[in-house]
Amino acid sequence: MTTNGGETRVYLLDGGTLVIDGYHLYWNLGPGGEVRFPCYSVLVDHPQGKFLFDTGYDLEHVLKVLPFEKPEQTPAQTIPAQLKLIGIEPGEVTHVVNSHYHFDHVGGNRLLPNATTIAHERELNQLHHHEPFERLGYSDTSFDAIGPRYELVNAPTELAPGVELLETPGHTAGHMSLLVRLSGRRPMLFTGDAAYTTKSLETEVIAGFHLDPRASVASIRHLKKVAEDNEAELFCSHDAASFAGWQKAPAYYR
Ligand SMILES: [Zn+2]
Repeated sequence: MTTNGGETRVYLLDGGTLVIDGYHLYWNLGPGGEVRFPCYSVLVDHPQGKFLFDTGYDLEHVLKVLPFEKPEQTPAQTIPAQLKLIGIEPGEVTHVVNSHYHFDHVGGNRLLPNATTIAHERELNQLHHHEPFERLGYSDTSFDAIGPRYELVNAPTELAPGVELLETPGHTAGHMSLLVRLSGRRPMLFTGDAAYTTKSLETEVIAGFHLDPRASVASIRHLKKVAEDNEAELFCSHDAASFAGWQKAPAYYR
């Protein structure tokens, strides 16, 4: 079904919020204390397919495994409910691509029955052979367990004209960011967890969950350079203040 009239549209899907400590948000800098932040997904409705970048967290999983992150997610903030706002069935999503496989970015994957999962080879390998300290991050493997159809990529790569994956490792082994070029506005650059917030970009202070801190800092600088070269707008993954100001589905960018 064509919902986009032949143009590319970008929808931001609200997936609820989680809480972490300020010292985890800004490693060794803080300030400490609870910070509630949004989790969202990005649907790129493109003439060549419906690409979903990240799928938020699964409420049951978080309540069971990481209840200390105090999830707040209404029934309207699930992937099927958010897609319904746009008039799209989960079965119509053709591709799902995750910035990385941390639980708060993969929770809805298993709900997309016909989607091909675009996987960075190193990220998929890390999911299966992660370090002990990555255990909670990689705790939701529900999508892997159901045996999705994986298509392995090594970023940078173009998924479709104007939809590009960038390699931004450090936070995780095969972390990827997404650049989307649109006809009516500046390109949108979704950082994923390579930059949680605009403060992370400005200060180059990374979050406290990472595999390779030095690579993380290099990825932040790479993202800023790509944004500058393409006059792109940066969209960080977990910035409450920014998220409040963005258009959310069913509104869209084009
Ligand atoms: Zn993460």
